[in-house]
Amino acid sequence: MAQIIDGKEVARRVREGIAEETARLREQYGRPPGLAVVLVGDDPASAVYVRNKERAAQEVGFHSEVHRLPAETTQQALLQLLEQLNRADEIDGYLVQLPLPRHIDPQAVVRAISPEKDVDGLTPVQAGRLLLGEPGLRPCTPQGVMELLRSAGVDPDGKEAVVVGRSAIVGKPMAHLLLGAGATVTIAHSHTRKLEEVTRRADILVVAAGRAGLVGPEHVKPGAAVIDVGTNRGEDGKLKGDVRFSEVEPLAGCITPVPGGVGPMTIALLLRNCLEAMQWRSSASSKSPVS
Ligand code: NAD
Repeated sequence: MAQIIDGKEVARRVREGIAEETARLREQYGRPPGLAVVLVGDDPASAVYVRNKERAAQEVGFHSEVHRLPAETTQQALLQLLEQLNRADEIDGYLVQLPLPRHIDPQAVVRAISPEKDVDGLTPVQAGRLLLGEPGLRPCTPQGVMELLRSAGVDPDGKEAVVVGRSAIVGKPMAHLLLGAGATVTIAHSHTRKLEEVTRRADILVVAAGRAGLVGPEHVKPGAAVIDVGTNRGEDGKLKGDVRFSEVEPLAGCITPVPGGVGPMTIALLLRNCLEAMQWRSSASSKSPVS
């Protein structure tokens, strides 16, 4: 029987710590951290994510702004808004909710975000800092996974870790965080042959493929830590992970459920990134690590 990692509880503790730190920063600098979210268009899932981010930011005492723009907004108008946010003193961090309408180039948008306010950790500067092992703002979901491993007492140092998925927002940064923590890391992806032979090496298996039920007991080494990042909407409307939970759970050392595992961590780590962005911006040092 595996230890089931309760992401909701770990996320609650992270948010509690952020609320305390926010009160301290407000005292020190006379203002709270400021987070802005930009939403273009009317994708219903994105609208829910944005509302959740807004609510979470308000709950920990942040200054929170949401910029809702119509789907027909031009790329130029969006870039102008980002320029304003880059200059806004009360905003320490912001993100543009993806996906964007098809007429807008997401790479042009990401490149317009000031790296010091890039709380999603997606700009080339922040991605480069992660690659080089320098301090910086890391993508939220992989950071959330690292927190979950810590909460379960799993230290990656010296372990075999396998990450399934190589996206810029989850798989690649995940692999680099594990590498930085001392793991021997393999990245598997859609071209990997004999996936189960690769994943069975893992002491730590992080699955972020977006394929419901991809990973079963045949993929898992007994006792492994299994972290399921996947969120797939089933035909019944229910959220399903990439891991067949009921089959893998008896074999794993610890495992995250979907929902209630990685999902709640992402917003908590977004808040922490914003707090850190404020600390770096406000620190007197001109050698800010994210400038
Ligand atoms: P993506 O589609 O950009 O990348 C998926 C990756 O999985 C690709 O690199 C692909 O090569 C790999 N892959 C696909 N099929 C595979 C297969 N059969 N075998 C091995 N590898 C395979 O997706 P993403 O943005 O990285 O997200 C991955 C999943 O995580 C999605 O389900 C997404 O909804 C979820 N997600 C959850 C959170 C959260 O907060 N819980 C955050 C981000 C993403």
